Amino acid sequence: MSQHVTIEDVTPRDGLQNEPTPVPLAQKLLLIQKLAAAGITHIQATSFVHPKWVPQLADADQLAKDLPPLPGVQYSALIPNLRGYERAVAAGIRHLEFVLSASESFNHRNLNRSLQESLALLEQVTQRALSDGVTLRVGFSVSFHCPFEGRISTQAVVKLARECRAIHPWRLALCDSDGMGFPNQVRDAVRALRDDLRMQNAEIALHFHDTYGRGLSNSLVGLEEGIREFDATTAGLGGCPYCPGASGNLATEDLVDLLHGLGYQTGIDLEKLLDAAEFALQFSSRPYQGHLLRAMRPGTCQKNELRPVP
Ligand SMILES: [Zn+2]
Repeated sequence: MSQHVTIEDVTPRDGLQNEPTPVPLAQKLLLIQKLAAAGITHIQATSFVHPKWVPQLADADQLAKDLPPLPGVQYSALIPNLRGYERAVAAGIRHLEFVLSASESFNHRNLNRSLQESLALLEQVTQRALSDGVTLRVGFSVSFHCPFEGRISTQAVVKLARECRAIHPWRLALCDSDGMGFPNQVRDAVRALRDDLRMQNAEIALHFHDTYGRGLSNSLVGLEEGIREFDATTAGLGGCPYCPGASGNLATEDLVDLLHGLGYQTGIDLEKLLDAAEFALQFSSRPYQGHLLRAMRPGTCQKNELRPVP
């Protein structure tokens, strides 16, 4: 089994979208360059949602046009509908994540439409993507727990996956948006997607938040099941506007450290990744949420922790 693990760093999108103060475009581009310099090959750069919903990413069109074309680096962006698709493709993005939720309530709150309506949009976007040669990954928010409906059953995830895969067999990302998933749920969901839908490991990505400190345990179970693609954010930035108390995503540096310790390859230089984490931390309104930076560069975190929380 492959020992190479792909990390999709989603800091510029998931990390920054919940910060109270929008980060200037030039700073976002610098962050992206630092991530790439550390060896991150997959970067989720922004989200093409209506600026009214996520003002922090209102610069998506300009940011996408200004992304530096770096060899070996693949940029992606999140889209919820056809309008987002059109904006993203017009701005030059060729890899998109279509987002919908594993729970009906979260879909309504996060996307303002029913799951059925999101599936109809996925169908429209799929037709366009196939004719344009654009790649999609379909991301399921709240795959394990929903702040409104509670625990999400494996059957609900499989049902939604079956409906999406009937439209087109795009790769899927299971996202633990409020960080309340448990390792046994991750194992059950991955196994069910393989057993019931005949999905391959390479067609499944995992996206963990670390609200309850379960990000690494959940990742470990995913690895043991053979999954080799994980999302994370540098310095553990992020949160979830509809998940009260949700702290950031799993920190990229914590995940990479675990992977390297277990003998997996990522192509990522940990020291340079810590440089990127230090840089990203200045955009956080909260103390550092990860572990590695605190352990290896304690001075950096102290400075951040002394800052007043707005
Ligand atoms: Zn997320």
